[in-house]
Amino acid sequence: VSARLLDGRALAGRIRTRVAVEADTFRRQTGRSPALRVFLIGDDPASDVYVRNKLKASAECGIAGETVRLPAETTSAEILGRLATANGDGAVDGILVQLPLPPHVESRAVLDAIDPLRDVDAFHPENVGLLHQGRPRFVPCTPGGILELLDAEGIEIAGRRAVVVGRSEIVGKPMAALLLARNATVTTAHSKTRDLPDVCREADILVAAIGRARFVGAAHLNPGVAVIDVGMNRVVGKLCGDVDEEAADRIAAARTPVPGGVGPLTIAMLMSNTVRAARLRCFGSA
Ligand code: NDP
Repeated sequence: VSARLLDGRALAGRIRTRVAVEADTFRRQTGRSPALRVFLIGDDPASDVYVRNKLKASAECGIAGETVRLPAETTSAEILGRLATANGDGAVDGILVQLPLPPHVESRAVLDAIDPLRDVDAFHPENVGLLHQGRPRFVPCTPGGILELLDAEGIEIAGRRAVVVGRSEIVGKPMAALLLARNATVTTAHSKTRDLPDVCREADILVAAIGRARFVGAAHLNPGVAVIDVGMNRVVGKLCGDVDEEAADRIAAARTPVPGGVGPLTIAMLMSNTVRAARLRCFGSA
């Protein structure tokens, strides 16, 4: 038996087509394109690739993307000043600070300084709070894309057991909150979880957001599970996920590939959030 592959890239294409139409409508209504300002601080090569992909996707969707590149030694105060300028610029709809920031920068203070109405990554505490109360203003891009994929593929969520491995602010925690809001019975596992394989084998939906190549193997997989592999790990120059594909193909009912699964959806949802931010600010509703 071979697990069905969940085609994130194809769904991402459909989302981007929808966003392009919405961006075009916004432009006809307001006389300008929705605009995204991305801050890239330092010279992390992976961040550079991610930001370039975000800007390319923006251009394809009719979103005016702009990158502000700052050197690694930029101080927290300087970054806060740049964010204040962006927050006060009526022509900027979405603001994103690419992570990770250089070690001397106070990441929390920087993320807290983004105007919550322009916070397209949804990391501001106000947006995190709204998400956890089940009334999201912006849905964080990676878990939001995963929900879209589960829905598009007809994978039922309500009443089923979901296990999320990883509890980062970016993926694991918001993923668990979103699945709970959709009435899954959710377990969040992490590096201190005892008997992790047993916990994972309870899952009907297993989300691996760990950052360890092929960590999730046969021992973690319940026959018939849907496996969502968020991991993006470089192993001798090749991109691979957190899930052992060969084991998942044998045991799971469905799985996302890496690449071509969750990654493209993350960018598509960023585009969607940017148009949403533009509408929210200009019209008061999305
Ligand atoms: P973090 O490093 O912030 O979090 C990793 C989580 O995994 C932590 O909660 C950690 O637990 C947990 N963990 C680590 N080791 C183990 C272990 N042995 N057993 C159980 N849990 C463990 O990573 P992110 O959430 O930011 O990213 C996770 C992965 O997803 C990375 O590969 C990243 O590149 C990828 N990613 C992909 C995206 C995409 O668009 N496809 C977007 C964002 C991330 P603890 O909290 O106890 O330390």
